[in-house]
Amino acid sequence: MTNLKDLFAAIVGADHVLTADRLSARDPGYCTDALGASVLVRPANSAELSRICKNARAHRLGLVPHGGLTGLVNGTASHPGEAIVSFERMSQILHIDALQGVAVVEPGVTLEQLQAALEPMGLMIGVDIPSRGSCTNGGMVSTNAGGIQVLRYGMMRQNVLGLEVVLADGRILDLTNVLIKNNAGYDLKQIFIGSEGTLGLVTKIVVKLWPVPAGTCCALVACQSSDDLPGLFDHARSSFGADLMSFEAMWPEYYQLTTSQPGFDRLPLPWGHGVYAIVEVCGTSRSDIEARLAAFIEPKIETGTVVDAVIAQSEAERRTIWRSREDSDSIDRVSDTSLSYDVGLQLADLSSFAKRLGERCAIQIPGLVPYVFGHVGDGNLHIMFAISESEFAQREIYDRLIYDTLSEFSASTISAEHGIGLEKRPFLVESVPPDTVAAMGELKQLLDPFNTFNPGKVLATVSVGPS
Ligand SMILES: Cc1cc2nc3c(=O)[nH]c(=O)nc-3n(C[C@H](O)[C@H](O)[C@H](O)COP(=O)(O)OP(=O)(O)OC[C@H]3O[C@@H](n4cnc5c(N)ncnc54)[C@H](O)[C@@H]3O)c2cc1C
Repeated sequence: MTNLKDLFAAIVGADHVLTADRLSARDPGYCTDALGASVLVRPANSAELSRICKNARAHRLGLVPHGGLTGLVNGTASHPGEAIVSFERMSQILHIDALQGVAVVEPGVTLEQLQAALEPMGLMIGVDIPSRGSCTNGGMVSTNAGGIQVLRYGMMRQNVLGLEVVLADGRILDLTNVLIKNNAGYDLKQIFIGSEGTLGLVTKIVVKLWPVPAGTCCALVACQSSDDLPGLFDHARSSFGADLMSFEAMWPEYYQLTTSQPGFDRLPLPWGHGVYAIVEVCGTSRSDIEARLAAFIEPKIETGTVVDAVIAQSEAERRTIWRSREDSDSIDRVSDTSLSYDVGLQLADLSSFAKRLGERCAIQIPGLVPYVFGHVGDGNLHIMFAISESEFAQREIYDRLIYDTLSEFSASTISAEHGIGLEKRPFLVESVPPDTVAAMGELKQLLDPFNTFNPGKVLATVSVGPS
C-alpha cells in the first residue's frame, strides 16, 4: 500500500499531513463520519493541490475536500484508503475591490470572516446562512448555499463571478472572472458550483459584493394557519418589492422548541399560534421601515389573517426574533440525535405538504413530531425529527415518511439547499429524471474518470479502476 504520509509530505511538508491517529482528536463538525480517512493533507496553495491531485490520481486514491464541516448530507464523509484535503491553510482574503464590487478569497475563509472584513467598508456578500461562524466560502460554492436572503440576493450561483478550480488531472482552471457581464464561451464555473467537490476542487472565489442597506428591520407575524402563508407572502412581495430581504416561517412546534432554550426571558410572541413568519425588510432608515411594516400588517389583522405581530424595536429585539428561527441546533439539546431534511416545493404546496407529513407521522409513528421551518419565499422547507440512537439505526423509515409525502407533489425536490452528499444519494432518482442522472454521470466520467474527487458522493460512481 502506498505510504500516504510520505507521498503527500513531499509536497506540503510533514507538518501538514495528519495520519489517522491524529485525526480522531479533530472535530468532525456536522458529519460524524468525516474523519475516517487514512490521512488529512493541508495544501498551502493551488500549485501544491495540483501536485496532490496528480499523485492521488496516479495512485487511484480518493480525495475528500473539507471546508467548515457544516454540511448536513454527509458530503464530507471519508473512509480508510482516502485522503482528506483540508483548506484551512488557504484562508486569505486576497483582494477587495469596492468600485468593481468584488472580493477575491481563498476557499478556507469563513463567511463570518468575510462579513467582518467587508462591514467597515459598508459592503456585504449577498448570501448569509446561520452556520456563518464555521462554513467556508469553498464549502458555500460547492453546495450552492442559499440561506435567509435568497429572495433579494439569490444563492451562491447568482453571487459568484469567477472561480479557480483544480481538476482531477492536476490542471488549474483559471475561471477568475471579475466582470459583471462576460459571455465569452461556456460559463464553466457553473458546473463546479453546487457539485459538492465531485468535479473539481475550488481554490479561489470571486464573489460579488453588495452595499449594506442603510436600515433593516423585521417583524414576527403569527397567523391562524399555515394556509395563510402564501397570501401573506404575496402581500409582502407587493408591499415591499425588492426591499423584501427575507420571508421565513416556523411551524408552532419549531417555534416552541427554539424559544424554550435559555436566553428567551421574554417570548417575542406567545406559543400556540398556527404558524409564525419573520418578514425582514430593508430601507433608508429603521423608522421608515417600521412604518412600512406596520402598514403591511394592519390590513391583515383587520381581515383576521394575522392574529398577532411584533415589530422589532431595536437591534437586540431583531436578533432575538432571528434566534428563534436560526437556532435549529436546539433539537440536539432535547434528543439523543436528529434527522434533518431540506425539501423544495411550489409556494402553493408548502402548507399542504406540512399537513400531509403530519398526518403520515400520526398514522405511522404516533407521537413523532415533525419540526418544520424554512425559507418560505424560496419554497424551501426544513424538517427535523428528534429521535433516539436506536431509531436512527432505522432512519430509512423517516426518510420514506418525507420522500413519500414529497412524491404526492408534482413539482418538488429532495434538496433545495444542502445537496445530495452520501445521505440523499439513494433518493436522487426520485427527484431527477433518469436521463439527467445519466448525463451527470457522463460529466463526472469526463472530468474525473478515476473517481478521485469525493468518491461516492452525489452519484454512485463506478469504483476506481486499475492504473
Ligand atoms: C445551523 C446550520 C444552518 C445552516 N443553514 C443553511 C442555510 O440556510 N442555507 C444553506 O444553503 N445551507 C445551510 N447549512 C448547511 C451548510 O452550512 C452549507 O452547506 C455550507 O455551504 C457548507 O459549508 P462548509 O464550509 O461547512 O462545507 P463542508 O461541510 O466542509 O463541505 C460541504 C461540501 O462541499 C465540499 N467542499 C468543501 N470545500 C470545498 C472546496 N474548496 N472545493 C470543492 N469542494 C469542497 C465538501 O466535500 C462537501 O461535499 C446550515 C448548516 C448548519 C449547521
